[in-house]
Amino acid sequence: MSFSDFRGNADAVHRFRDMLGRGRMPQSIILAGPAGCGKYTLSLMLAKAMNCLTSPITDGLPDFCGHCANCVRIAQSEDLESRFSEAVEARENLRETDKKETRLFVQTHPDVLIIPPDPPQMMIKVDQVRRVIETIYYRPAEAKERVYIFTESCFMKEAANSLLKVLEEPPDYASIFLLAVNPGELLPTIRSRSILIQLCVLSIDQIEEYLAKHRPEWSAKQRSLVARLSEGAVGRACGFDLAAYISSRDHALVILNSALRSSDHSELFKATETYRAGAEGREKTEKLIRTIYLILQDLLFVNSGTPELVRNTDIQSELQKLVQSADFQWVAFAADRLAEVERGMRRNLLRSLSLDALAVSLERQAV
Ligand SMILES: [Zn+2]
Repeated sequence: MSFSDFRGNADAVHRFRDMLGRGRMPQSIILAGPAGCGKYTLSLMLAKAMNCLTSPITDGLPDFCGHCANCVRIAQSEDLESRFSEAVEARENLRETDKKETRLFVQTHPDVLIIPPDPPQMMIKVDQVRRVIETIYYRPAEAKERVYIFTESCFMKEAANSLLKVLEEPPDYASIFLLAVNPGELLPTIRSRSILIQLCVLSIDQIEEYLAKHRPEWSAKQRSLVARLSEGAVGRACGFDLAAYISSRDHALVILNSALRSSDHSELFKATETYRAGAEGREKTEKLIRTIYLILQDLLFVNSGTPELVRNTDIQSELQKLVQSADFQWVAFAADRLAEVERGMRRNLLRSLSLDALAVSLERQAV
């Protein structure tokens, strides 16, 4: 791994490496950009480059090795979703009284602290910022620079005010990254004390090109599908579970076809009975619902004469067939019903039954 593995946004990456090379990494950096554009990945790469024990130079600029003790430990935070779930689970296992006082962090290196929004409110809380204040004025133990990464910019008011105090007098051996989809959410006083670097998503062509190199086992058709489904997010594209998506989509098509075209429900029941109770079933059902939404959107694109926006490009003929019986009104109705199923899931209604009910209720409305 090195900076050359980061896709797109070459200007932003160059700017950072240039600052690193001059020893002028800012103390507070707002890394802004849409979900999936690589904000978190880049901030971890920078944390590695700041602390790499071998400090390699590539193309005349600082890089990181990916193999030294610091790089390896920082890399353990790369899978943010898993580290976050582990932290949530660890807190769940605490005694009631401790639970309330424990805030969530991800930390795989003693000098690199990752601060995700704290559930259930999913906001950055004041106690999380307090941990930053408690540690930031100590020199790093094993790294050269302390690095703090706030993974979202949704601060509670008190937390934002506390952060502001740190930003007024940050030590020069620490850097704070504020990752933001919308930097406007941050206090103007926080913004004025930070430098803002904007990242953008990649085009479908750029992602297809990237996939051609990194997922050569996929056909051009599959790469094109994944590039569209990942909405410019290169990380999402590369780790895309195509087999799971196709299987979920097959079921989505069975449900929609059953609603729109067939009076025989055996196919429908065969598909829906595989959606069981429990966490696994829940995840599977959520995926299915997201996939149905995607197909409904594609039907709208076909309906409104903008087929170039369709994401499920590999099932164009299937979509064309469906659209003959699915007019705009039906799609809107189906989306409403789908939202009801989602609400039902939260109340834990039997999943396969609510999926069957969905298909059957859509049937009566078919044109
Ligand atoms: Zn290294």
